[in-house]
Amino acid sequence: GKGAAMVTAVAYRLAEQSRQIAQILSEFRLTTEQLLEVKRRMRTEIQNGLSKSTQDSATVKMLPTFVQSTPDGSENGDFLALDLGGTNFRVLMVKIRSGKRRTVEMHNKIYAIPLEVMQGTGEELFDHIVQCISDFLDYMGMKNARLPLGFTFSFPCRQTKLDAGILVTWTKGFKATDCEGEDVVGLLREAIKRREEFELDVVAIVNDTVGTMMTCAYEEPTCEVGLIAGTGSNACYMEEMKNIEMIEGDEGQMCVNMEWGAFGDNGCLDDIRTEYDRSVDDFSLNPGKQRYEKMCSGMYLGEIVRNILIDMTKKGFLFRGQISETLKTRGIFETKFLSQIESDRLALLQVRSILQHLGLDSSCDDSIIVKEVCGAVSRRAAQLCGAGMAAVVDKIRENRGLDHLDITVGVDGTLYKLHPHFSRIMHQTVNELAPQCNVNFLLSEDGSGKGAALITAVGCRLRQELNS
Ligand code: BGC
Ligand code: MG
Repeated sequence: GKGAAMVTAVAYRLAEQSRQIAQILSEFRLTTEQLLEVKRRMRTEIQNGLSKSTQDSATVKMLPTFVQSTPDGSENGDFLALDLGGTNFRVLMVKIRSGKRRTVEMHNKIYAIPLEVMQGTGEELFDHIVQCISDFLDYMGMKNARLPLGFTFSFPCRQTKLDAGILVTWTKGFKATDCEGEDVVGLLREAIKRREEFELDVVAIVNDTVGTMMTCAYEEPTCEVGLIAGTGSNACYMEEMKNIEMIEGDEGQMCVNMEWGAFGDNGCLDDIRTEYDRSVDDFSLNPGKQRYEKMCSGMYLGEIVRNILIDMTKKGFLFRGQISETLKTRGIFETKFLSQIESDRLALLQVRSILQHLGLDSSCDDSIIVKEVCGAVSRRAAQLCGAGMAAVVDKIRENRGLDHLDITVGVDGTLYKLHPHFSRIMHQTVNELAPQCNVNFLLSEDGSGKGAALITAVGCRLRQELNS
């Protein structure tokens, strides 16, 4: 009768709904063949970045870092380090002792950088940084020491030496004026002068990937790659000098900051980008730029999720079809929430309470769907990151003419450290896509600060050798 017809209609609608949800999520599923293709494309872009004839227009910039060796244990001294561009801005004091019992002692303080400073004028940003250093030196009682400083600055910089780096472009949440095209070391030195309160000796500007690699290499000499899977995404590795055509000299190696976040900016990933990726990109601070980073890193994964949820709500599959103010708010799903939602130990009731906490009223069915959406987005991120890394380790293997390579990758970043599945899926993907490499991932605790100090130590030593 009528009742049975209604039941059938509801059942039909539900089946149709789950078919459409599955359809949306299937856009985020990549086959092994597709991932191998991503690896091949990354390899092409690496080559374009290294070669003189293609480097100008290359999207993956392969920036020389002027770091030509990993630490050897002889590093020694007291250093100040800055870490700008990740989840937190930190000022650190690092005491490195060489000799039989090598030790590294660190003190650090986290400082907030208000949004209006991140996106204000360059002068305001650097004045704020120097203000934080001043507070830290007071706290440590070291205002009169003229310490050597290593500046971990996690943005693409064109370096001509260890202590000069021209900002190519801001990424992530930064957009301060009058900095792009400028030497960031110069901007810092000028701000220190403006304050007329203390002196510092800025010795090195360091990308966070490089700091991370150096920190791991201090403990583990087979570490020749650095990876950040955090707010942003990037990698560096030791490349043969003869392959870096922009730098004179064919002997030895130099660490190259790949800036792989820009992979895809020439359209080469368009076939796997979804409408949700495009809309995250369109409404970002840097439309059209850092397209791979926007599929792989913590700052954007939550935004992809939010865009999918909005679409599903519009279609009536979620939240009773009601798009709340919360759901309209950019940046609500931080990495830590995604990580909580995807935790296996969590009951659905707890997922609902996390969503509730964010201001989203969910039914039990809603919470199941939200968890699936998060899983699809973070899984693809880990696989894409793994495909990029597979290209890097295979390049190193081929550089050395080896059939088999054992190598260690130093890793840092909130996504890698906090997310319950990202690291495992990324490791699996690298194993699958680069079967001739045995890749050991080493978590770098406090990588960028310590690494900057190690590089500064080497910089100081080289300078002394030059002067004597
Ligand atoms: C920056 C890189 C940095 C990465 C991780 C990217 O947005 O361009 O320089 O290494 O984020 O922090
Ligand atoms: Mg960091």
